Amino acid sequence: MIKKIKLGYGTYKVKQKKNVKLQGSEMRGRIDFKKDKIEINKSYSKKQKKVTLLHEIFHAIEEHFGLELTEQEIEGLCNGFADIIHQNPKLRKELKFG
Ligand SMILES: [Zn+2]
Repeated sequence: MIKKIKLGYGTYKVKQKKNVKLQGSEMRGRIDFKKDKIEINKSYSKKQKKVTLLHEIFHAIEEHFGLELTEQEIEGLCNGFADIIHQNPKLRKELKFG
């Protein structure tokens, strides 16, 4: 899995961990804005981990641009984006910048 995600002037470190917890409950992933760190729970499938990374990336975008999105909105954007990229291989080439 990718180790760093750059956004704006910042860089998030991406780490896979056995235990990813928030207030005692197990999470698929989490993002720590203070430490610029994304944690992905190791115990899920490769596909689930990819979707989790994308989910946390949308949280990073949310934070970066000062948006206030609900979990449902983040989920919708994440799943919609993943589906579009999956179903449109030509679009992946089209969107290659630089
Ligand atoms: Zn979330």
